[in-house]
Amino acid sequence: MKFFGNNQGVCVFCRNTAGRDRRLVGGLGSDIYICDKCVAICQELLEQQEAELMPIEIKNVPTPSEFKQYLDSYVIGQEEAKKTLSVAVYNHYKRMSVLNASKMDENAIKIEKSNVLLIGPTGSGKTLLARTLAERLKVPFAIADATTLTEAGYVGEDVENVLLKLINAADGNIEAAQRGIIFIDEIDKIARKSENTSITRDVSGEGVQQALLKIIEGTIASVPPQGGRKHPNQEMLQIDTTNILFILGGAFVGLDKIIEQRVASHSMGFGSNVGQMDEAQKMQLLNQVTPDDLVKFGLIPELIGRMPITCALKELTKDDLVNVLTEPKNAITKQFQASFKIDDVDLIFEKEAIEEIANEAIRQKTGARGLRTIVEKMLMDIMFQIPDIKGKKQFTVTKKIVQGKEKNLSDKILQLPDAS
Ligand code: ADP
Repeated sequence: MKFFGNNQGVCVFCRNTAGRDRRLVGGLGSDIYICDKCVAICQELLEQQEAELMPIEIKNVPTPSEFKQYLDSYVIGQEEAKKTLSVAVYNHYKRMSVLNASKMDENAIKIEKSNVLLIGPTGSGKTLLARTLAERLKVPFAIADATTLTEAGYVGEDVENVLLKLINAADGNIEAAQRGIIFIDEIDKIARKSENTSITRDVSGEGVQQALLKIIEGTIASVPPQGGRKHPNQEMLQIDTTNILFILGGAFVGLDKIIEQRVASHSMGFGSNVGQMDEAQKMQLLNQVTPDDLVKFGLIPELIGRMPITCALKELTKDDLVNVLTEPKNAITKQFQASFKIDDVDLIFEKEAIEEIANEAIRQKTGARGLRTIVEKMLMDIMFQIPDIKGKKQFTVTKKIVQGKEKNLSDKILQLPDAS
């Protein structure tokens, strides 16, 4: 095969000639050509078909302990959640492989899908867990926020748009999207306001739960390709949600009190009340959650029924946050160090500085979510100035800098002698 120059031939697919933005490839000794644009389209089609043809085989899916090991490199703590999720995801793909194998066999046992509910405060790693699993599996992944969703006909986002996000994450490959993972956060915020809503129906909450239920339990959904509202006459994308794994998350503030009331009324005195419990006791309580507790909280029983696996995540302590900053493969401090390296800067974090960043995140009550913003803000000035300084440099982040007590950060830049 060989490249051909301008005006030497015509692409047999699109009939264009070679030019500045189009190159032609032809077989040696033949006058049949194809252009690079059409090659790219062919490649895409082939990949799409390959994904469609490739059945999920359980031998290609990591075992639960392999999943857990992978999660360990990215997620600090949350051992119980990592284990539970690893088993859930493994079982999910096991179920899919059975489905694939038993398509022809009517008597085969159909294993039902087990979606997962993660209960844990903001910034404890719920989204990170779901995302990391999807990355390991190399399946499309989409995140949605339940509070932005509405049932059809109301102002807000239709539930189908969540599926569109997944299709987009799969580059439009519906087949791949149908095996993806969707994480829906803030599911607790669409709870009914009170358990007894038979008279005044709580449209905002219950309606969305009903709409979500439909896609979670498995349906062929019609999705408007451009997002937004459905219009008559618009061509829709059809997606089967049967095999999409849903991981739902929420902070569920107050759920511990509901569980405590139940537990206390059954066994004489669970001990201290929720207000005085430490984090471990709270976790123990949250891990005893029953469907009834979640109904009391305001979720509809049908939706709860579709999330048979629940798991509690703990609020990260200062030590956990220090680990989050330094330990994971792509820990925040490592990311900043790598980014500074490009400008020839050795970025050093003193131990006390890291602890102070963790303290600040605890003060802000944002869990690990706030860490990046704190570091970003703190290094803003230095990131503005340092690329202008030539040669090798060093910058050390101290506790005082984190506390904002150091005024002229540029004075702290240390010029190092060049190695050469
Ligand atoms: P949540 O969904 O529970 O509110 P996220 O998973 O979105 O929290 O966490 C926000 C960010 O905080 C993540 O991208 C990650 O950088 C960090 N983070 C949170 N929890 C952990 C954890 N357990 N281990 C490592 N990093 C974490």
